[in-house]
Amino acid sequence: MGLPVDEVVARLEAMRSGDLPTHGGRTLAYVYDSGLADADELGRRALAMFASANGLDPTAFPSLLQMEQELVGFAGRLLDAPEGFVGTATSGGTESILLAVQTARDARPEVDQPRMVLPTTVHAAFHKAAHYFGVEPVFVPVDPGTFRADAEAMAAAIDDRTVLVVASAPSYAHGVIDPVTPIAAAALAAGARCHVDACIGGWVLPYLRRQGADQPDWTFAVEGVTSISVDLHKYAYTPKGVSLLLHRSAWLRRPQLFAAADWPGYTMLNTTTQSTKSGGPLAAAWAVVTHLGDDGYAALAEQVGDGIRELVDGLAVLPELAVVARPDSTLVALRADDSCDVFTICDEMLLRGWFVQPQMAFAGEPPTMHLTLSAATAPLVPEFLAALGESVSAAVAAGPVQVAPELAAAASAIDPATLDDAAFDGLLQVAGLAGADGALALPERMAPVNALLNVAPPRLREALLVTFLDRLSRPRTQ
Ligand SMILES: *Cc1c(COP(=O)(O)O)cnc(C)c1O
Repeated sequence: MGLPVDEVVARLEAMRSGDLPTHGGRTLAYVYDSGLADADELGRRALAMFASANGLDPTAFPSLLQMEQELVGFAGRLLDAPEGFVGTATSGGTESILLAVQTARDARPEVDQPRMVLPTTVHAAFHKAAHYFGVEPVFVPVDPGTFRADAEAMAAAIDDRTVLVVASAPSYAHGVIDPVTPIAAAALAAGARCHVDACIGGWVLPYLRRQGADQPDWTFAVEGVTSISVDLHKYAYTPKGVSLLLHRSAWLRRPQLFAAADWPGYTMLNTTTQSTKSGGPLAAAWAVVTHLGDDGYAALAEQVGDGIRELVDGLAVLPELAVVARPDSTLVALRADDSCDVFTICDEMLLRGWFVQPQMAFAGEPPTMHLTLSAATAPLVPEFLAALGESVSAAVAAGPVQVAPELAAAASAIDPATLDDAAFDGLLQVAGLAGADGALALPERMAPVNALLNVAPPRLREALLVTFLDRLSRPRTQ
C-alpha cells in the first residue's frame, strides 16, 4: 500500500530538514538566493506548470521554444552578442561546457587528436568534457600573483591540434576574470575557437560593469570569442536546471545539433545532450527573468556588489585570514595563516549556521575557503563577519588540524589505479570512519577528513572520493 499524500509530504519535509538551507542567505555555495519571495514563488509556479511539458520536440511544445528564444535574446543583450548570434538552453553549466567542447571538436574533423588549451583555474567541467570527448586538455599555469590566466603562456601552448581555447569570467575558485582579449586574439590567429566560461559571472558582471566596476572586456565585444556559457540557475536566481550556451553565429553552433533518422522510431532531433527534457526549469527561468527584468537584476547586482566589498573590507580585523585575490565579481577565496586551518573554520562556521566551502591545496597554493555571495547574504554580512571571527578564534584555540602520521602513511601507500574495496575499508578503519557494520560513518567534524584529502595528491584524492561516492550511493532495499 502506498502512503497518503499528507504522510508523503511529511516524509519529504523530514528528509529535507537534513539538507543545507536553500534560502535565507547563510549557504555560501551551491545555492543562489535573491531574497525576493515573489520571484521565488513565481519560479516554483512556472516550474510546476511546465514540469511535464517535453522539450524533445519544439514543434509539439512551441511554448518552450518561444521561452528559449526570448531568454537567449535577453542573454545576447547582456553579453554584447553581435547580429546573427544564436543560443541554446541546457540543463546546467556543465552541459553548456560539454557542448562547447563537443562542438569545437566536431567542427574540426580533420584534426586527429584534438587539444584544448585551458588555464589551470578553469572549472572542473572542462576536465569532464576532456574525459567524455577525448579532447586532450593542455593546462597552462595561471599568473601566480593574480591567479588570472597567463595569456602569453596560453598563446604559446596553442598548436595546430588546438580546437579550443578557454578563459573564465570569473574563475570559480578565485573569482577573477581572465585576460580574455589577448587569449581570444591568440585563438583567432590560430584558427581555434575561444570559449568564455561565464557560467557564474555572466548574469551579474554586466550589471556590475554598468554600475562602474572596473572590468577587463570578456563578452562577445572581444574579437575572437566564439561562445559563452552563462547559468540562469546561478545569478539569474532561477530554480535549478538551466544554463545558456551562446555562439557568435549559427554556423559555429551547427556541429552541436544532432539528428538520428536511421532507426524505426521518430526522427530524433536535438540541440542538447538531453532528449526528453522537462519544460519546468526553462519556464521557471523565463518567468523569473521576465519578472525581475533588467531593473531587478541591476538592483540585485548592486546589493551583492556592495556586500562583497563590505565583506572584504570587514576581513581587515581578522589578521589570520587573507583574500587570495581581490575579487572581480561576487565570489572570493580566503586563506588562513599558520595559526589555524580553513577546514576547522568551515566546521566552526557550520556549527554557527553558515556554510562556506573548503577548497583543497592546489599547485603549491594552500587550501582556501570559498564564499559565493547571494543578494540575500548581502544584508547579513555583519552577522557573517561576527560568526567568522568566532570561528577563527575557535580554530586558533584548537590549532591547525593534524593528519595522524599512520593515516598519512596508509593513504600514501594506496595506488590510485588499483584502489579497491578492501584497501578503502582498511583506510576507513585507520581513519576511524568505519561504522559498526563496516558502513561509512561520517564524522560531525569534517576537518580531519578534509585535512587527509588535502595531503593526498589529486589523483589519489579522486580515487578515494570515487570509491567513497560508490559506497555512499548504494540502494536502500527496505
Ligand atoms: C558552476 C560553474 C560551472 C558548472 O556549472 P553547473 O551548473 O554546476 O554544471 C562551470 N563553470 C563555472 C565558472 C561555474 O561557476
